Parts: sequence; structure tokens; C-alpha cells
Amino acid sequence: MTATAIPARLALVVDAWFDGEKRHADGRTTFSVEDGRVVAIDSGDHGAALDAQGWRVERGAFLLPGLVDAHVHLFLDGAPTDGAVRAAHLKQGVDALTEAARASARQSLACGVTLVRDAGDRHGINHVVRGEARRPGSGMAQVRSAGLGVKRAKRYGAFMAMDVDDEASIRGSVQRLAADSDEIKLILTGIIDFDAGAVTDEPQFDAAAARCVVDAAHAAGRKVLAHCSGAKGLAVAVEAGVDSIEHGFFMDRTTLARMRDADLAWTPTFCPVHFQWAEPSAVGWSANTVGNLRCILDGHGEMLRAAHALGVRLLVGTDAGSMGVEHGHAVADEMQRFVEAGLPVDAALRAATGAPRAHFGDAHPRLAPGAPFEAVLLGADPARDLQTLRRPVRVWPAPSLPEAAA
Ligand SMILES: [Zn+2]
Repeated sequence: MTATAIPARLALVVDAWFDGEKRHADGRTTFSVEDGRVVAIDSGDHGAALDAQGWRVERGAFLLPGLVDAHVHLFLDGAPTDGAVRAAHLKQGVDALTEAARASARQSLACGVTLVRDAGDRHGINHVVRGEARRPGSGMAQVRSAGLGVKRAKRYGAFMAMDVDDEASIRGSVQRLAADSDEIKLILTGIIDFDAGAVTDEPQFDAAAARCVVDAAHAAGRKVLAHCSGAKGLAVAVEAGVDSIEHGFFMDRTTLARMRDADLAWTPTFCPVHFQWAEPSAVGWSANTVGNLRCILDGHGEMLRAAHALGVRLLVGTDAGSMGVEHGHAVADEMQRFVEAGLPVDAALRAATGAPRAHFGDAHPRLAPGAPFEAVLLGADPARDLQTLRRPVRVWPAPSLPEAAA
């Protein structure tokens, strides 16, 4: 696989493709790409004619928009699974952590992930890498950055969030963060207690305080992504009107129906919990806890099916950087979890391409004439072989284009 600069005039003939929303598999299609932008999508193979006009012609099996990982922590390295190694990683200076984040963004792009949403880091490294990734030929996935999140003092989330207190402090902090954060991260609950098989702590914010975060973010033109699991936290998230629920373990159908009605997206992040279940020796989990993990994953899969049936907007996000969750590679894992849960392959493709771009307010959430050519070529149709997602043939990163061009 190579991330490829786009020739000035590229004609790409494919057997089938996915536009970000739906599949097109009724015969060959020719994409005409000029100066990094899709100018035409025509049925049939027009390669010979375009070749005669001096276009560079390429061919392949299956094209889809560049993959999106809607939940990563670039400055964390998911590969080490030893607790001491992970703790030592976090103790490094900002320069070393920034270098780790660059490596994460490069590895993501190599896996066909052209855009990641960084869900928070304490140092603002995500903002730095966002800027570097925009430079032409950076070799990195583009970054949508949540900067530094907000949390309560002495509660979970110190590696990615700052403390806020009363309403005035919430409003002031969110307003300041919104100046350079693409979204505001709200740490609403802690993490799951796997030994107990439940979220055991109380939400960090009540509905009024969470609503204050949302109102301040929306007033500044920013969406809110809420780190949230467990019934109590989910109730607060929906009541407060956040824009996406991250993780959302212990989901229920009533909450899903309210999410659908409010157009509230869900990023279920199976990966970190699935790793703990698949490799219990990495943490030293007991048989009882492994049983809890399986129960949690099965319940999560059932709720994902319910969400799909209800029409909740679903986002593929891996929590890459968590133990055992490797940047880039994890996107195919998470999509596999979607399919194992019973979702159609196209629903998993949508959750990893068009759905996150639409949620982020991208002007071009689908591959269509006028859109920047940010795409991945696969060697086979993922509906026939899902593993083909792990071996992208070509990756075209987001081109640097003037904003006003049409
Ligand atoms: Zn996270």
C-alpha cells in the first residue's frame, strides 16, 4: 500500500464502489479526477478514451471514500500491552509524545484512514498534529481535534481533560477551548469496572451542568462529544443534548429512540473492550471478569443492532491508543465487530465514511462530482471479503485544495 499524490488528470475505472452512503455495483464506473477533485463519475469503462486524451488511467476492484476513525487518541500508542510500558509512555516529555502522535497519524493513513477525530489529550498535541497533517505531502491522516476535554476535579480523564467547576467556570473554559478545538469533549462518566461488570461511579455532571457545557459549545459553533457509559450517564447525555455519545456501554432501547429523534450520533468503540476479552492475560483478568467482558460485548452488539434498526447515526471509532488498539489497523477490527453484531457490511462502510463526515458537517460527505478525491482502492468488494479492508491497494489522502474552488 502507498499513499499517493494525485496526478493532475487521473481516470480511475473500478468494478464497484461505495459513495459514503450507498453501494454502486451495477457495472464498471469511471471516475475523472482533475487537480484533486472529482469532476465526473460515469457508468462504463471510459479508460481508453481518456487515455487517448492524455489522462493517467488506473483500474481496480472497489473504491470507497477514505476511512474515518471517529475516536482516537493520537498521543497514545495502542501497541504496548504491558502496564509498565504504557505508564512509562505517558511520563515522556511533550516532544516524545508529539512524535508518537505523528507516527499514529502516519500509520492511520497507511491503513486507509484519511481522517481521524482525536478525542482529547492533555497537552494539545492533537492540535499540533492537525496543523502538520494539513501540509501537502504530510503522509498523515487529517485530524479533527477535540483538544483538551472538560471534567470534574479528582475524577476520571486527567490524561485528556481539564477541570471545570461552577457554571461560570464551565462557560469560560468551553468558550476558551472552542477557539481552537473542532469539538468539545465532555467527560461525563468514568470507565467500566470490568470486575463488577458495570459502571460503578456517579456521572461527573448532572443534566443542568452538562447542558451548560452543550449550550456554551453550541454558542461557539462547536459540537459536543460525550465520553459516557452506564444508564445514569446516558440519561444525562441525552437530557443535555450532546451531539455524540462515545462508548455508550450499557445502552438501552429507550435511550436509542431518544438519540434517533435528536439526531444524536453513537460511537460504540468495541475495540478496547474486545481486546480485554480476547487477551485477558495482558491485564490478568479472572475467568469471572472475562465472563463479564463477554456479556458486556454481547449486550453492546445487541444494542448496536437495535440502533441500526431504529436509524441512529452510527460512527466507527476505535479508541485507538487504548491498550491493544492500534492506530489505523483497528478500524477494520471495529467494522468487523459491527458485522459480527449483525449489521450489513454497507452499514459498517457508511459508519466509517459518509456518516462521520456528515456528522462533522463536511461539505462533501460523499464521493460525488465536486468532492475532493479522498479515497481508498480495495482489491475486492468488502461485502464478499471483509478482510480486504486490511490490505488497501491504494490510498489517496485528502488533497490540499483552495476552499472556494468548486
Ligand atoms: Zn477515548
